[in-house]
Amino acid sequence: MFHEVAKSELSAGAGVATCFGVKRRAGEASRSIEVRALQTTLKAPIGFTGTGLHSGRPVRMTLRPASAEYGIWFRRTDVEGRDALIPARWDAVVDARLCTRVANASGVEVSTIEHLMAALAGCGVHNLLIEIDGPEVPILDGSAAPFVRAILARGLRMLDAPVRVLRVLDVVEVREGDAWARLAPARTLEIDFAIDFADAAIGRQHKALSLANGTFVRELSDSRTFCRKADVDAMRANGLALGGTMENAVVVDGSEVLTPGGLRHPDEPVRHKMLDALGDLALAGAPLLGRYVGHRAGHALTNRLLRALFARPDAFRMTLCGPETERLLPGAGLRQTDILAVA
Ligand SMILES: [Zn+2]
Repeated sequence: MFHEVAKSELSAGAGVATCFGVKRRAGEASRSIEVRALQTTLKAPIGFTGTGLHSGRPVRMTLRPASAEYGIWFRRTDVEGRDALIPARWDAVVDARLCTRVANASGVEVSTIEHLMAALAGCGVHNLLIEIDGPEVPILDGSAAPFVRAILARGLRMLDAPVRVLRVLDVVEVREGDAWARLAPARTLEIDFAIDFADAAIGRQHKALSLANGTFVRELSDSRTFCRKADVDAMRANGLALGGTMENAVVVDGSEVLTPGGLRHPDEPVRHKMLDALGDLALAGAPLLGRYVGHRAGHALTNRLLRALFARPDAFRMTLCGPETERLLPGAGLRQTDILAVA
């Protein structure tokens, strides 16, 4: 029989520190002590108001603490008479051409979830109910920074259940034309991304990072979504990107960056693609340990990659997360000062 003898909790305002449940077999020697990373949720709700990037509609969203093993779910508060709960999970993705959209069996959906999902994965939030009064997550500044800032300021609460991680055991790859995405075994979550755009303001960019120890917050979270002016014009003609402004997207035209203030990083576009990849990989339902390589990939290809992974039971394993592994997760090692790095 197990009983819990110690549990640590984050201090107010801190991100994810090293937090373990220590379980001891009654009456046994110390060698039988088990140390496991614990699941988290928010300490208190967080509200956001903003605009949907594609719909242009105002939206209110509240992130609510949830219990252990709940996972991450959306609830559409504007929907009546139908199931309003939608899982933030890879097998609920119904469209991922311009952004990632999830839906339930009743056809109730929510879209543009990827930047929020990246923030949750990057800050180590495992359980959450996201209430939203419309079909699209607010775009805010086009990056994950506003979500990260709010999550780190609110702090996380440890829950009495162990974290399970998804370990990649074999190479899985998907292709579409000259774009491809691959998962391979690795000790930490690594993201390696390459893009190649005709516009000289973007051009060829390549970046690879291990996302252990708060790297996501410091290196990627403030990079904004980007688009080419010609694509903005085409999307608007099709009734999309109606909420897009120069404040929530980096717009380029040939060699020019049209967004006032320019880029936050010289390679902001590829950093944003890495942010998107983390958000889409977060739909795996557990922190993923493996190397993701994306070459001109996007939301659709990353979702196909997860589907290919889960179709191969020999290519992954779900395991309990001990202290050695917990230190390597994207949300581990975050400090209060990391907030300053967020725009
Ligand atoms: Zn994005």
